[in-house]
Formats: sequence, structure tokens, C-alpha cells
Amino acid sequence: MDPLSEIAQLEELVRAATRTVVFTGLGFGRSEDIEQRVDQSDWSSHASLENLVVDPAAFWAYYFTAATEISRRLPSAGHYALARLQHAHVISTIIAQSADHLLQKAGATDVVEMHGSVLVAKCERCNERYGLPEVGALMEQSADRVPRCTSPECNFPLRPVGTLWGESLAEEPMTRAWELAAAADLFVVIESSLRTMPLSLLPSVPLKQNATLVMIGMMPTQYDRYARLVMRTEGSPVVDALATAMLGPAPSPRT
Ligand SMILES: [Zn+2]
Repeated sequence: MDPLSEIAQLEELVRAATRTVVFTGLGFGRSEDIEQRVDQSDWSSHASLENLVVDPAAFWAYYFTAATEISRRLPSAGHYALARLQHAHVISTIIAQSADHLLQKAGATDVVEMHGSVLVAKCERCNERYGLPEVGALMEQSADRVPRCTSPECNFPLRPVGTLWGESLAEEPMTRAWELAAAADLFVVIESSLRTMPLSLLPSVPLKQNATLVMIGMMPTQYDRYARLVMRTEGSPVVDALATAMLGPAPSPRT
């Protein structure tokens, strides 16, 4: 089937739905024009709970630099398209696996971040939060290069708000994602390979309620055979085309 008629089919499904929930994977919107200097295998070996516990100075030396790189990324056409579709009430909540905050930077307001955000750190003792630039300043002030809480009498070492390797997902986004999936009549998965538990189970929730499932992305998944529509292509151009078809061309300039 040619891509144009697939987008027409997708538009038809979206128009027919009353509650469309979108689930975006880690790779969503990472087109070649976005800098990708943070290597994924470096990230998974360094940004772990184990490293934070065993050697917090080394952990933060890596994490602060990598998170700063991520914080400089710009949203792509796909991020902007989803934000436009959300503002126009075509789609409802976006459940995101990425912790880069790019959907919000593009203007999306209702996003469930399954892995938290790499752009913020927190004190687990008093719950005070710190943005990345503050964390950098605290590292410089600290004799052992570990950023610590500045609340009076606290001084507890900080940790990222984002989920680390070796940690389970936070309960709050999990609960919300499962509720949203159960309430959707159209569930659209975009560029998630759905290989890791528990998020690999999420599309089974709307399916159980007889909701319509759409799968968009290059990677085959175990849900493809249950989906009404499978688009074996990159997600960003698809949602950009959908937004243009339903809402007209994107306002410029985009950057
Ligand atoms: Zn504190």
C-alpha cells in the first residue's frame, strides 16, 4: 500500500475515535538533523543506579555532561506535529518513553514521561528539585564533585529525576499510563520496539477493551498482527503528514 493511502487510513481512524492516546518510543523524532552525540551504549553503562550508589562523583561527571548534551537537542517536525494535534484536541495524552522533554519543548502540554526527565535532579530526603545548570554549579562547589541539596541542614547527595538503568519505572507514570491505555478507543504506538517489560505490555491494555491499535515504526513488534493498521516507516514524517492533512500546514518558522 502506498504511504499516502496509509495516512488517509490513519486520518480516518483518528477522526472516528473519541479518545486517541499516543505512545512514543525512545527513537521518536530523532531525525538526522538532531545531534546525537550521546552514545546509547555509553549511557546504559554509565547512567546506572549501581554507578550512582558506588561512585557518585564518576556518575555525575558522566551524567551531567551527557544530560547537558541532551538538553541542547531541538524538537523535530514530529514533536511539533504531535503538539499541534494535541492542541487541536485530535489526540489526547502522549505517553513518552524518552526523557528529553522535546515534546514539551514543542508545545505539548499533556505528556506522561515514563522515564522521568534527564533535565532535573532531586533530593530524595526533602524532595527539593534542581535544574541541570544548578547541578553543574553545585558540582563545582563540592569538594568531592558530588552535587548536594542546599536546603538548610539537608546536604543530601542529589540524584536525577530520570529513571536510571537497573531501576524500575516510577509508580505514578505507570499508573497513569495504564489508566490512559484502558480509556483509549484508539491507541497509536510510534517507534517503540516494545521489547522491555513492563512497557511491552501496555498495548495489550487497549486491545483487551477492543480499542483500535495502530503501529507506526521500522521495528516489527508482537502487536503488529493485532493492529488495524501497521505503518512500517519512520514516525515523524507520518505524524507531520497527519497534522498537515487535518490542520493545514505547520506555521513557520519552526525553530
Ligand atoms: Zn534535601
